[in-house]
Amino acid sequence: MTGRPLVLLDKAVPEPQAGELLIKVLRCGVCRTDLHVIDGDLSEGKYPLVPGHEIVGRVVKGGARFAAGARVGVPWLGWTCGKCEYCASGRENLCGQARFTGYTLDGGYAEYALADERFCFPIPDGYPDLQAAPLLCAGLIGYRSLRLTNISDGDNLGLTGFGASAHLVLKMVQRQYPKTKVFVFSRTGAEQQFAKELGAAWAGSPEKESPEKLQAIIDTTPAWGPVVEALKNLERGGRLVMNAIRKEKNDKDALLALEYPRDLWMEKEIKSVANITRRDVEEFLRMAADTPIRPEVREYRLEEANTALLELKERKIRGAKVLRIG
Ligand SMILES: [Zn+2]
Ligand SMILES: [Zn+2]
Repeated sequence: MTGRPLVLLDKAVPEPQAGELLIKVLRCGVCRTDLHVIDGDLSEGKYPLVPGHEIVGRVVKGGARFAAGARVGVPWLGWTCGKCEYCASGRENLCGQARFTGYTLDGGYAEYALADERFCFPIPDGYPDLQAAPLLCAGLIGYRSLRLTNISDGDNLGLTGFGASAHLVLKMVQRQYPKTKVFVFSRTGAEQQFAKELGAAWAGSPEKESPEKLQAIIDTTPAWGPVVEALKNLERGGRLVMNAIRKEKNDKDALLALEYPRDLWMEKEIKSVANITRRDVEEFLRMAADTPIRPEVREYRLEEANTALLELKERKIRGAKVLRIG
């Protein structure tokens, strides 16, 4: 049943089919999308369901690509058809038949998980389990969003919201675009403070005007207000990338505050980001290990999953949240 706290159950260890790995889960990240899945806000969830799509684990029963004992990561994108025009053109993130870990497939809030080995990835040697977990969604979707902004080094970038994904974007920018200044919009003083500690050029509340115009903005909030408020800060020809699987209905009225001349005229663009591709995973994991990008993480036991979800909802704890399982 959706909209209720998660229930801890004893289940048989699942049996892998051809092409699948049986994985002993070590860590699994907790993501805002899990809240939407658990609350039934997304329409295609398989229930009952094991949530969780930032899995780091060890292979118990291997396949053609991974032997038993290998350390692997399993992200949100769990299966694609491989045949449609999107799959054939490097846009498998848009495949109409795609299946998703912890949403339409069982995920990683469990001791064991199954995964299609074509959608499993080696975790770089030496990279800690705990910090690898948030890379697999918060980091990856941040990486894809940053790519979609099309910025060059030295362009100003805005971030609305400063949770697990946005704080990793800031770390990526510092590595990939060292001359770029980052401006953070958040309603909470704690997030503004966190952003400044990590090196943001400016942090303030969303209704404020940023001290400089921005070539791009990445929105990581579940609400409409921050999007409308941010658009006035975009430079001519600038792009706002929405990194959110779902927008809340209760502040939809904020859209009525949109002023065409101020917010959209002069070829300003709005673009959403959906899912990730396997190419994103490979490129990003390499970059995260080389840099190295290390997420700020708070750890919880599997039995504390409901607490982790609640603290994510209330935005009490900064950085990313991860369940320790193995
Ligand atoms: Zn496809
Ligand atoms: Zn996620």
